[in-house]
Amino acid sequence: MLQHTRTAVAPVEHESVALRDANGRVLARPILADRDQPPFDRSTRDGYAVLAAELTSGAALRVIGTLRAGEEWGGPAIQSGEALEIMTGAPVPAGADCVAMLEHVVRDRDSLSAQPDRTWKTGENFVPRGAESHAGDVVLPRGRVIGPAEVAVAATSGCAELHVFAKPKVAIIATGDELVGIDQQPKAWQIRNSNSWSLAALVNAAGGSPGRLAIARDNLDDLRERVAQGAMWDLLVLSGGVSMGKHDLVEQVLSECGAEFFFTGVWIQPGKPVVFGRIPKSGIVYHPSRPQEHANWQGEWTYFFGLPGNPVSTEVCFHLFVAPLLRALVGRADVSPSFVEARLAEDVKGAGGRTRFLPAQLTSAWDGVSVKLVPWQGSGDVAANARAGCFCVLPAGVETFRAGDTVRVLLR
Ligand code: AMP
Ligand code: MG
Repeated sequence: MLQHTRTAVAPVEHESVALRDANGRVLARPILADRDQPPFDRSTRDGYAVLAAELTSGAALRVIGTLRAGEEWGGPAIQSGEALEIMTGAPVPAGADCVAMLEHVVRDRDSLSAQPDRTWKTGENFVPRGAESHAGDVVLPRGRVIGPAEVAVAATSGCAELHVFAKPKVAIIATGDELVGIDQQPKAWQIRNSNSWSLAALVNAAGGSPGRLAIARDNLDDLRERVAQGAMWDLLVLSGGVSMGKHDLVEQVLSECGAEFFFTGVWIQPGKPVVFGRIPKSGIVYHPSRPQEHANWQGEWTYFFGLPGNPVSTEVCFHLFVAPLLRALVGRADVSPSFVEARLAEDVKGAGGRTRFLPAQLTSAWDGVSVKLVPWQGSGDVAANARAGCFCVLPAGVETFRAGDTVRVLLR
C-alpha cells in the first residue's frame, strides 16, 4: 500500500526560501559543497605544528612564531628543528605533519621539547584539507528535511537561499451534528470541534499547510458541498462519519464524487473505520440528478483520508496513514512512521483480533527504555492522550503481554 503511494505521489512545485526560514522545509535541490572541507589542514588543538618523528626523537625544537585561527602563515615551510605555535582552527603550515598538544610538550622560551614518554604520529591533531567533503560533493541531498544540523551545512556552503518543495495544502473537514466551534458556547449535548485543531497541528508538524474548512453536518447536502470544496486542495482529511452508524455518510459522499477507495478499514484499535483513496479534483458538487459527472475521470485526483472522529483514533490514524503520504507530498525521502522498541513496565491484556495503539509514556533509564500505558477512558479521552507521549503497539492475537516483554512504540 505504502509502496503504491510512494511511487504515485510526487511533489511538483518548488520555491526559494531564505536560510533563516528553512527549518522544517524539504530540499528540492541538493546542496553542493562550494569548497573543500576543511578548506585547509585545520588544527584541532592548541599546541605546536612540528614533524612528529623529530619531536618524538627527543630533539629540542626552536619555536619560530605563533599562528592563530583566522591567520595565514606567511613564512616559509617549517624546517627540520623548527616548531610553530598554533591555535585550534588555524591552518597547519607546510613542512609540519602533526600538531603536538600544549599539554604534552615542555616550552622554555624559544625551545620546545617532548614530555617524557610522549610520542607522535604523522597526521595527529589536524583534519587534512578535503577530509570532510570536496568541492562539488553533495553535502545535503534532495528530499532531506532541513533541521539545525542541515542549517549548519547550508551556512558552511554559503547558501543563503534554498530551493525547497512547496508545502502541500491540506483541507481539514470535521463532520458531525454535535460539533460547535471553539468560539461558541456548547449546549450540554454538544462538543467542541477539537479535531480540526489537532489535525492542523499535525499537518503543520508533517510539513504541510493546513486549512480548516467549515464543519460539515451529518447530511448529504452539507457533506457534498464540503467534499467538493476539499477536493480542490492537495490533500483532503476528514474526521468523523466513517463508522457504521445511520448518520455516517462520508463514504457515501466520497463515492458519489467518484472516489476510488484504496482501503476501507484497517484491523487496528483505535482507528478501524479509517478510509483512504482519491477523488477527482473537479470541485463539482454532486447532485443525484447528474450521477455521471465523474465517470471515466481524466483529470487530476486528490488523495483523501476519512478518519474516525474520536480524537485519539484521529491522531493514531494520522501518524500511521496520513503523515507518510503527506511527507511524500512534501518531497521527503523518509516517509515511514517512527517506531522504537521498549520494555513493558507492567502486564497488559491484549485485545484479541486487532493491533492496539494505546497512549503511553516512554521512560529512559540506565538499563534501557520502558513504556507504560496511561490510564484512559477510551479514544475520546483527549486529556489522557495529552498525558501520553507516544502509542504503545500491542499486536493482535496475544492474550497477555508481560512486564519486561519488548514491544514497539509509535512515536508522535
Ligand atoms: P464519529 O467518528 O463521527 O462516529 O465520531 C466518534 C466520536 O468522536 C463521537 O463521540 C464524536 O462526538 C467525536 N468527534 C467526532 N468529531 C469530532 C471532532 N471534530 N472533535 C472532537 N470530537 C469529535
Ligand atoms: Mg459523527
